[in-house]
Amino acid sequence: MDNIFDNEIFDKAKEVFDVTRKKTGEVVSAGKQRFEIATMENRLEKAYNALGKAAYKAIEANGTENEELKAAAADITTKIAEIEEAKKELAQLKNKRICPKCSMAIEKTSVFCNYCGEKLIYEETQGE
Ligand SMILES: [Zn+2]
Repeated sequence: MDNIFDNEIFDKAKEVFDVTRKKTGEVVSAGKQRFEIATMENRLEKAYNALGKAAYKAIEANGTENEELKAAAADITTKIAEIEEAKKELAQLKNKRICPKCSMAIEKTSVFCNYCGEKLIYEETQGE
């Protein structure tokens, strides 16, 4: 422990610890430090997300020569379209229900399934 190499490592570690202590004015517990790291990582993720949205808008408006960015933007465009489609389907489902036999979307008030002919029992809560 008393060779120069080990002392250097110890001094570096002490230096980092002292900087942490000076910043907060207290001895930081491992738990608090982990929480602060998680908070900073969360903020970093949000910053990346904001950059991604800004980049997507810029690429949509101006295009890009970068193939990786072009592919990533196309992926986002596809996902947006899928969500829009799913929302349209949800709106339609609000007035429809799923046939218990063939799983097709049918009018809520239908007595028989238009697709498989199954006799249906009207249920107030179905399709909500
Ligand atoms: Zn059916």
